[in-house]
Parts: sequence; structure tokens; C-alpha cells
Amino acid sequence: MSWSDLAMNGRILIVDDAMENIQILHHALRDEHDVLFALNGEKALQIAHNQLPDLILLDAVMPGMDGYEVCAALRASSAVRDIPVIFVTALTHPEDETRALEAGAVDFISKPFNSAVVRARVRTQLTIKRQADAMRELTLTDVLTGVANRRSFNEAMDNEWRRCARAEQPLAAIMIDIDHFKNYNDAYGHQAGDHCLQQVASAMKRCAGRPPDLLARYGGEEFIILLPAVGLDGAEVVAKRLLEEVRSLNLPHCASSVSDQVTVSLGVAAIQPSDDNDPEALIRAADALLYRAKETGRNRYCIGNGS
Ligand code: GH3
Ligand code: MG
Ligand code: MG
Repeated sequence: MSWSDLAMNGRILIVDDAMENIQILHHALRDEHDVLFALNGEKALQIAHNQLPDLILLDAVMPGMDGYEVCAALRASSAVRDIPVIFVTALTHPEDETRALEAGAVDFISKPFNSAVVRARVRTQLTIKRQADAMRELTLTDVLTGVANRRSFNEAMDNEWRRCARAEQPLAAIMIDIDHFKNYNDAYGHQAGDHCLQQVASAMKRCAGRPPDLLARYGGEEFIILLPAVGLDGAEVVAKRLLEEVRSLNLPHCASSVSDQVTVSLGVAAIQPSDDNDPEALIRAADALLYRAKETGRNRYCIGNGS
């Protein structure tokens, strides 16, 4: 994607109680973007959550929920918090601008509209938003395997821990480690080792890659899977599938003492998140069980409850 592409083909939500204003803005933007619209604040929030627009043009003054309230409601919800908002306003006092900026707006467009200015401002904010998205994606993804990285895992763990504690649902984790991977590198070379990691990661993704499940690279050749609202029984099913999926890759491993193919060992634990324990307890349990799987022969899972 080139820099100029970043500024085009956005999904823009226009919020204004006057149909006439929506029409003018729609006309200014429709050749470059997909345009959605809402005639009041409540509807705007609903569309924002359902359609996740790239950018919102928000009228400051509306009957019912006004632009400032809509902006505050957007900021309060993590799902839509990062959608940039441009205020559209006939208000010209510096205090109005300050208030809008404090509410989280990134820019202003003043009425009456100038189409070229509207287009230019939208392009600029869209580019910034997409650069920020790409940057965030980079900081949360493991470059080699394309799965979530450790930082991303930690964020997800904190969120899911709280969510499961509130909902009184269990949280399971599976810690995965490739067997005799040092020997694999020694036998086939580091590049082949990298390729092996990629293939094992994609195989595991097929078992538990859909939200809210999260597969992350935890360290070198160690991965972790977080399974929200899943207890020990459910996690055991996933563990069996993981072993099977990795075996079915049929990757030769001539330097392993457990098999002539690449295998993994797993530690499977589940816990009921509450105020009395913490994510570390779950990780510690999964890690201890992984250690036991290694000790008792590798190419298997060990399962138990977190304390
Ligand atoms: P075990 O069965 O007990 O897990 O033995 P192991 O050899 O797999 O474990 P060990 O921790 O001794 O070695 C891990 C190896 O993983 C050593 C390291 O070079 C390799 N490794 C870690 N990260 C990468 C990577 O990104 N690419 C490659 N090719 N190898 C990696
Ligand atoms: Mg290993
Ligand atoms: Mg290891």
C-alpha cells in the first residue's frame, strides 16, 4: 500500500441532526470513501460499535445527546476508543474548541463547509489513523510466526482475567514447547528451525486461533494459548487436537529421542480468576505441568488445576 492509498477508501461515519449537512458532507466524500451516517448520538454510537468506521465526523450541537457526550461515550469504550473524531461545528469560540479537544477530538471542520477542506482534513486523519493501526499491529505481533507476541499476550491475559472473574467463568492456558528443538537447529540449521517454528505456529493456530482464544509466542520455541471461558475439560480437547495437528505436519526430526518427527509437549491448566489469585498462578501451573510433560517423556500433555 502506498502513502496516498492510506488516505483513501476509508469508512467514514457522518453524524449530524440536519439531513442537509449530511448530504453536503456525503457529496464531498463519496468519491473517495464509504460513507455511513447517523442523525443522532445514540444511533451514532450503535453504528460505531457495529461497523467500526475509520473516522467519525461529529456535529457538536445536536438535540438529545450532543457531540461532546458522544465523544465521551466513544472514549469510554475500548472497542471504539481509537476511532478518531473530527468535530463539525458552527461554533467559533476558543472555549468550544478547547472543550472538543478535551473530549478527544483530533480536528475541526467549521460550517459552512468547503468540500476541498473537508476532503483534505479527512485524508490527513485517515492516514494518521492507519499509520497508528499498522504501528500497533507491529508492536503486538511476532515477526517470525505472525502470531501474537508476549506483550500482546500480557494485555490479553489482563483483560480476559478481569472479564472471566466478573463473569465467574474459568480461564485455561496451554503452555507449549517444541521437543528437542536445540537438536533440530543443530541437525538442520537455524533457518530450517525458523521454518519449523512457522509451521508449528500455523498448525496450532488451526486449533485455537479464533477470538477470544489467543495463541502467542511466549519465548524462543515456547508458545502459549489462552482459552477464556474454557475449563479443564475443554482445554484437554484443545490439547489433544494440538498434539494431533503438530504430528500431522510430518516434519522429520532425526535428532529427537522421542520420535522421528517434530513433536511438542504441553502443560494444560485452568483456574477460576478471582481477587484472591492472579494471572501468574495460571502461568506457573501451566509451566509446571509442561515441565512434568517433558520429564515424563515429551510428546504429550500434562493437565491440572491452577492453585
Ligand atoms: P526440550 O525438549 O527440553 O524443550 O529441549 P529443547 O532443545 O527444545 O530446549 P532448549 O531450551 O534447550 O533449546 C531451545 C532451542 O530453541 C535453543 C534455541 O536456539 C532455539 N530457538 C529459540 N528461538 C529460536 C528461533 O527464533 N529460531 C530458531 N531457529 N531457533 C530458536
Ligand atoms: Mg524445547
Ligand atoms: Mg524451551
